[in-house]
Amino acid sequence: GKVSAEAETVTPMMAQYQEIKAAHPGALLFYRMGDFYEMFFDDAVAAAEALDIALTKRGKHLGQDIPMCGVPVHSSESYLLTLIRKGFRVAVCEQLEDPAEARKRGSKAVVKRDVVRLVTPGTLTEDSLLEARRHNFLAAFAEVRDAGALAWVDISTGAFRVTECPPVRLGPELARLAPREVLLSEASGADWAGIVTDSGAALTLLSRASFDSASAERRLAALFGVDTLDGFGSFGRAEIAAMGAIVDYLEITQKGKLPLLRPPVREASGGTVQIDAATRRNLELTASLSGGREGSLLHAIDRTVTAPGARLLERRISSPSRDLPTIHARLAAVRALVDDAGLCTALRDALRKCPDMDRALSRLALDRGGPRDLAAIRNGLAQAAAVAARLADDLPPLLTGARGALVGHEALREVLEAALVAEPPLLIRDGGFIARGHDADLDEARTLRDEGRGVIAAMQAGFARETGIASLKIKHNNVLGYFIEVTATHAERMLSPPLAERFIHRQTTANAVRFTTVELSELETRILNAGNRALEIEKRLYDGLKDAVLAKAGRVGQAAGALAEIDLAAALADLARGEDWCEPKVDDSRAFVIEGGRHPVVERALRRQGGAPFIANDCALSDGRDGAAIWLLTGPNMAGKSTFLRQNALIALLAQAGCFVPAARAHIGMVSQLFSRVGASDDLARGRSTFMVEMVETAAILNQADDRALVILDEIGRGTATYDGLSIAWATLEHLHDVNRCRALFATHYHELTALAHKLPGVENATVAVKEWEGDVIFLHEVRKGAADRSYGVQVARLAGLPEAVVERARVVLETLERGEREGGRPQKTLIDDLPLFSAVRAATPAQAAKGASAVDQRLAGVHPDELTPKQALELIYELKTLA
Ligand code: ADP
Repeated sequence: GKVSAEAETVTPMMAQYQEIKAAHPGALLFYRMGDFYEMFFDDAVAAAEALDIALTKRGKHLGQDIPMCGVPVHSSESYLLTLIRKGFRVAVCEQLEDPAEARKRGSKAVVKRDVVRLVTPGTLTEDSLLEARRHNFLAAFAEVRDAGALAWVDISTGAFRVTECPPVRLGPELARLAPREVLLSEASGADWAGIVTDSGAALTLLSRASFDSASAERRLAALFGVDTLDGFGSFGRAEIAAMGAIVDYLEITQKGKLPLLRPPVREASGGTVQIDAATRRNLELTASLSGGREGSLLHAIDRTVTAPGARLLERRISSPSRDLPTIHARLAAVRALVDDAGLCTALRDALRKCPDMDRALSRLALDRGGPRDLAAIRNGLAQAAAVAARLADDLPPLLTGARGALVGHEALREVLEAALVAEPPLLIRDGGFIARGHDADLDEARTLRDEGRGVIAAMQAGFARETGIASLKIKHNNVLGYFIEVTATHAERMLSPPLAERFIHRQTTANAVRFTTVELSELETRILNAGNRALEIEKRLYDGLKDAVLAKAGRVGQAAGALAEIDLAAALADLARGEDWCEPKVDDSRAFVIEGGRHPVVERALRRQGGAPFIANDCALSDGRDGAAIWLLTGPNMAGKSTFLRQNALIALLAQAGCFVPAARAHIGMVSQLFSRVGASDDLARGRSTFMVEMVETAAILNQADDRALVILDEIGRGTATYDGLSIAWATLEHLHDVNRCRALFATHYHELTALAHKLPGVENATVAVKEWEGDVIFLHEVRKGAADRSYGVQVARLAGLPEAVVERARVVLETLERGEREGGRPQKTLIDDLPLFSAVRAATPAQAAKGASAVDQRLAGVHPDELTPKQALELIYELKTLA
C-alpha cells in the first residue's frame, strides 16, 4: 500500500531537507514547518540532548524511523542561545512562500524553503543573544608569505579593524580581543588552530579561496563603494586577505545581506601595550581568575551608563595605548570633567537615556530590526543633541571634537519623532508602533479594526432610518458573520420592493428574519481585513523609516561613537572624583614613581567587608637610564606582596588606557610590554603540569621583555623543590637585570635572594612590614625599603587555624633547621649547582654541544622557544624525558 511505498522512497520534503542540509555541513539545520523549527536525523539527536527536549519520530526514510525534535518559532531565540553557547552553529531555514502557493502547484508540491541565515558565535546581533556591555568579535587570521595579519569585526556594531600580526603574536592578540569566533584558512597549519582553540574562541575553517588577497581586494572595494582601499590606509597583502575572509564569511552566514561595516581601520602594531594571555588572566583585567566579570579590574572601575561606553572601556583596558598624544588627549578629557562636576553629572544624566544605537543600527541593516530599534535611534539622537548643547568651546579637543558628530541629525529625528509612538513594541508583527495621525490610510484601517462596533452602530442607525424600522439590529454570529435582523412582523415589508432590492435575505427563524446588504458584507470584509491592512501599512511605513535611518547610517554611527567616548570620559571622571584617584603623568622617560598607590579591586573588597582600610604604598623603581630598575620584595605570606605587585602593574595599565589612577601621585614612563606571572598557580583544568606552565611563562618573559617592559614576577620557582626554585628565581632575576634591563617587581619568599641587591646595582630590596606581638604576627601591609628578616610562616600557619600542637612542633623543627644552617653554613654555590633544568640549557649552547653533546643536547639545539606553543613545550619535555 501507500505506506510501504513511501517507506522505500524518499518523500519530496525529505529530498528538499537533505539537499539543504548537504549545502550547510557543520551546522544544525532549523527546518521551518509552520510554527516550528524542526530538526531531523543526527541533528535531532544532538539538539534534543543539548536542549533537553523530547526526541520523537516522524515517518520513515529509506525504511528507517526519522528521529525528530522541534522548537517553537516564537521562542526559538532562547534555544538558539543555548545551542550557540554549547558550540553549535545553526542554519535557519525558512519557508519562502505561503503553503497555499505550494498547493496550487499540486497536492504533493513542497513549500519552497532555504537557509536565510547561518547563526554562529561571531555573527550574532540579537540583544537576547549578546552581552550588552561586551563586544562580540569575529576575527580572521591570514598569512601571506611571511607576513601575518588579524582582522576583526563586531557585526553588532559594524566596527571593523585590522592589524599586522606576526604568527608569534597571534596568541597574545587573541587574548587581547577575546573574539568569539576565529576564521582560518583550511591551508593553515595545525599550530594556528591549536592557538585559536586555546584562546577559547570557536574555530571556523574556510577555503583557501576565501583568503585569496586579490579577490579580497575586489570584494572590499565593492563593499565600500571605492575603487581602491588606499583611502582607508595602506594595507599589506595579509591584512587584505584577513579582511576579505571576514567579508566572505559574512556573505556566507548572512546569505548575501551584509551588515553595516564601517570602513576598516588599521591598528598600527606597536600602538598598544603588549600584554599576553597569561598576564591578562593574572591581572584579572576583564575577568577574574574564577572566570566571571565580578572581581575583575573592569568590573571595579566601570561606571559607564551606556552599553557602548562599557564596551569602549573594555577595549581601552584590553589595549592600553603607547601613543603619548592619544593618552594625553584622553586624560585631558577626564581632567576637564573631574574639574567640572556639574557638567559631568549633567552629561551622565543625558547619557543614561541613550539606547544602544550601534546595535540597533546593525539589526536594521540586516533586516533583523524592529520598531524598538527605530525608537532607539530616535531617542539616541535626541540625547546626542542634548549632550552636544552642553559641550562648551573651552573644553579639551576630545570633547569639543565629539560635538560635530552629535549635531545635525534634526531631519532624521523629525521623521522618526513624527512617525513613531513613544514606546513601540519589539516586533513589527505586534503592530501599533506608528503614531496616530501620521498616515490617513493607517488611521482608517485602525478605526475600522478598533472601532468596528461604532461603525456598525452608525450603519444600523442608517438602515433603521432608511427602512423606518426602529427595532432593526445588526448582529453577528459565527455562521452568518454580520447580519441585519428584524422581527417577523416586519418580514413582509423587507421582502417586497423597494427594500427587497437592497436587503438580501439570508435566513428566517421562528420570530426573526435576517438580511445582509452589499455595504454590510463589504464592511464586514473590511473589518476583518482591517487588522491585516493596518499591519501591512505599518510594515510599509517601517521599511520607509528603516531606509531613512540607513541612508544616514554613517553619521548615526559617528554620533553613537562620540556618545560612547563622552560616556567613558565622564565615567572615569566620576570614578576619579569618587575614589580620589589622581591624573598620572605619562611621558617618554623610564620613570616609575607611584606615591600612595592602591589596588582598585582589593581596596573595594576591603571596603565592602567593612574591616581594616587599605594601606596605600609607594613604589619608586629608580629611573635607571643605564640599566634595570628592580625591586625585590620579601615578606611573609599574606603580607600583601601580590597585591602590591599587581596594583603597580594596574596603575601603569590604567594610566596608558587614559584613566586616572588609584594613587596620590603617579609618574610613568611609557610601558611597552606588561608581563605578570605567578609561580605555580594550579592550571589543572588545562591539563598541564603547573611547574611546566610556570617555566614556559617565565621563558616567554625572559625571551621577549625589552627595556621598556614592566615585569611582575610573584613567587617564581615556587612550583618545584626548594633549591631548584631558589636557583631558578636567582637566575631569572639576574637575567632580567643584565639582559632584559627592564623595570620589574619581583616577590619571593627565598630570603637568600636579598643578597643579590648588594651584587646587582639595579636591584633594591623591599619588604612588606609585619609586627610580631606575643608570638603572633600582625600584618601592617606597609612596603618599606630593606629585606625581611624572617618569613613568619609558622605564625601565619597558626593564624590559619593549624592545631596548636602542630604549630609548636613546627616551631621546634624550624629552630633546629635554622641552627643547623647557621652552623653547617651550606654555601649558596653548592645550591646553585643543584640545577637540573639549567645545566641542561647550558649544555645546549653551540660550543658545548660541539664537545660531545648528548641526545638531549642535540634535540635542544634545534629548538626555538619563540616558536613553541605551551602545548608543544610540554610535549617536548616528554620527549626529552625519553631521550635522557
Ligand atoms: P601575599 O602575596 O604577600 O601572600 P596578598 O597580596 O595576597 O599577600 O595579600 C593578602 C591579603 O592581605 C589580601 O587579600 C588583602 O585582604 C590584604 N592586603 C594586602 N595588601 C593590603 C593593603 N595594602 N592594605 C590592606 N590590606 C591588604
